[in-house]
Amino acid sequence: MDKVIYLDNAATTKTRPEVVEAMLPYFTEYYGNPSSVYEFSTPVKKAVAQAREILAASIGAKPNEIYFTAGGSEGDNWAIKATADAYQNKGKHIITSRVEHHAVLHTCQYLEQHGFEVTYLDVDEHGVVKLEDLKAAIRPDTILITIMFANNEIGTIQPVKEIGQIAREHGILFHTDAVQAYGHVPVNVDEYCIDMLSTSGHKINGPKGIGFLYIRTGVKIRSFVHGGAQERKRRAGTENVPGIVGYGEAAKLAMATMEERAAKESSLRDYLMERIMKEVPYTRINGDCKMRLPNNANFAFQFIEGESLLIMLDGKGICGSSGSACTSGSLDPSHVLLAIGLPHEIAHGSLRLTLSEENTREEMDYVVENIKAIVQRLRDMSPLYEDFVKNQAKQ
Ligand SMILES: *Cc1c(COP(=O)(O)O)cnc(C)c1O
Repeated sequence: MDKVIYLDNAATTKTRPEVVEAMLPYFTEYYGNPSSVYEFSTPVKKAVAQAREILAASIGAKPNEIYFTAGGSEGDNWAIKATADAYQNKGKHIITSRVEHHAVLHTCQYLEQHGFEVTYLDVDEHGVVKLEDLKAAIRPDTILITIMFANNEIGTIQPVKEIGQIAREHGILFHTDAVQAYGHVPVNVDEYCIDMLSTSGHKINGPKGIGFLYIRTGVKIRSFVHGGAQERKRRAGTENVPGIVGYGEAAKLAMATMEERAAKESSLRDYLMERIMKEVPYTRINGDCKMRLPNNANFAFQFIEGESLLIMLDGKGICGSSGSACTSGSLDPSHVLLAIGLPHEIAHGSLRLTLSEENTREEMDYVVENIKAIVQRLRDMSPLYEDFVKNQAKQ
């Protein structure tokens, strides 16, 4: 098999050909600035408005509640920093969880250096926030609860509806990072009492560098990028028109195909997990089994380094990801795996595989065979495994 088997769709996805096709005219033909008054820009304005309508409808929002951003990281930064700024007279306390994406965690840490207090909620062994802990953490000066919809490493989906209700009852704003959930599971801002929600185009087969932040009407939120009057004076800068058009198209396709895609991906994913669990001993599955993104599988293989496994899988044309080291090259295991209680040595042996609808059963078979062989080879070189086998023989 000399083609690449791409199983890292939580990192980014392939831009669909329909999306690229929808975008192209907005580079070459309809390149006018949507803020200009002449007629040449009219189709450009219309295309931006149409994408905004599609995206708004996809989460049950109004078009004027959608603010285009450069992706998920910007949406998270904006929601959290601008809420802190606008509501600091009410209080300086923020609640989040230990398993958030770094775009949320590092923003919260930044605010801690600027006089805000942050509570990082623990999660259970499946990665789920405990509602009792959330209620107990709420204080009179709490201004924001920011908890992700679904986790990017272990795929666990949070009880978002309940979290939203608790926030609403206490008059606290609720932001959710829905980058991994959007386009994969149904998301509705009214049903879930969500005040702010961030998404990203490249996680749903759209282009990179485009996303949106939903901000509920009435939420007092400051401009994030100062300059021109774009995005109702809240986010300056000439609109990324091709990106916006592409994102609209990607969202339209994602919404239309969600159910069948989820069914296909989860059945392949379940097949992969079943085979791995049956055929590779001393392995565990990370994340919740039921409340889980349809395309996410996350394993921890005892006695091995996830990084070595990844490199050897790469040698076989298989793209996966490991939670064991972050992009900075640090050797600390993933904060998410530590938060669900994995000991360091087990967290180090983790592997995340995230599927797309293009994957096949033959690919899963190829992946399982390679994982089996590589894990065994790595274990055969591991002194920890050798000790373990010796001790077992003694018993
Ligand atoms: C990918 C991701 C982000 C960052 O989105 P970008 O568009 O790459 O900035 C934020 N949160 C989660 C949960 C993600 O998976």
